[in-house]
Amino acid sequence: MLNAILMMTVVSALMGLILGIAGKVFYVQVDERTETVTGMLPGYNCGGCGYPGCSGLAAALVDKEVAVISCKPCKADQKAKIVEYLANTPGPDGTTITVKA
Ligand code: SF4
Repeated sequence: MLNAILMMTVVSALMGLILGIAGKVFYVQVDERTETVTGMLPGYNCGGCGYPGCSGLAAALVDKEVAVISCKPCKADQKAKIVEYLANTPGPDGTTITVKA
């Protein structure tokens, strides 16, 4: 019985250590702007922009894959706010993004 408890403790400690190391090694830095831009888009997730949802277009804008906000339901003032936000908010690398409405 004592051996089983000891074995489980050692295995648990090893698994915790491995998960801790994996978390550090495979850490992916998240660009907070993607979440913010997703929240600024209409949220219909209609796919009209060519992406499966608003978060897809937001990620493409932040990743600089596209330079135009191709969301058809998005109103002009919403697009202007996104353009201003991306132009004035630096990402983790310190750069800003220029997109067109
Ligand atoms: S067209 Fe606009 S509302 Fe529709 S999924 Fe794309 S970003 Fe969202």
